[in-house]
Amino acid sequence: MKNIVIFGAPGSGKGTQSDLMIKKYGLGHISTGDVLRNEIKNETELGKTAKAFIDKGQLIPDDLMVDILANVYDGFGKEHEGVIFDGFPRTIPQAEALKKMLSERGHNVAAMIELDVPEDELMTRLIKRGKESGRSDDNEETIKKRLDVYHNQTAPLIDWYEKEGIHHHINGLGELDRIFGDICNVIDNL
Ligand code: AMP
Repeated sequence: MKNIVIFGAPGSGKGTQSDLMIKKYGLGHISTGDVLRNEIKNETELGKTAKAFIDKGQLIPDDLMVDILANVYDGFGKEHEGVIFDGFPRTIPQAEALKKMLSERGHNVAAMIELDVPEDELMTRLIKRGKESGRSDDNEETIKKRLDVYHNQTAPLIDWYEKEGIHHHINGLGELDRIFGDICNVIDNL
């Protein structure tokens, strides 16, 4: 199993690059943001809880997120070469829980690929996406909160994965094809 964490701030291109990775490598894809938005759309209890956090630009509590993640992962079965984790982990406790959950199944994370994009570009991209997608959390005020959350709670994972020896930095600014090429270089060498 080549499990990969695609990592970066909101708007760094994780979803776009995940789509290309799915097509090329036949990987499964878990976007925790998509999972939660689906729960909100279906008006489930979990969706109601999640919406309160998402609309404020805050993270859903770790315990809840870890349970959701394990359930979705186990739902994949064995038909994939591996899974892309997109939007998870977002905190150090989530990274520790992911490592434990995978090792209990005899699996691991093979690479953490960080898409590095400057702050002003993230802001521009997210405001544009908000206009096109109508995502309720892509408005200027909530975007600022999400970027703060990223810097305070999520960015420390770069050092955490560096220590694990599986962090790969990629310049996420520029041509889509060049960025994807850099990602393929990492995956092909795993
Ligand atoms: P995303 O689509 O990945 O930008 O996620 C949208 C929102 O869903 C985030 O701002 C969080 O409120 C919530 N969310 C998604 N993934 C996680 C996670 N791993 N931990 C906590 N909250 C999450």
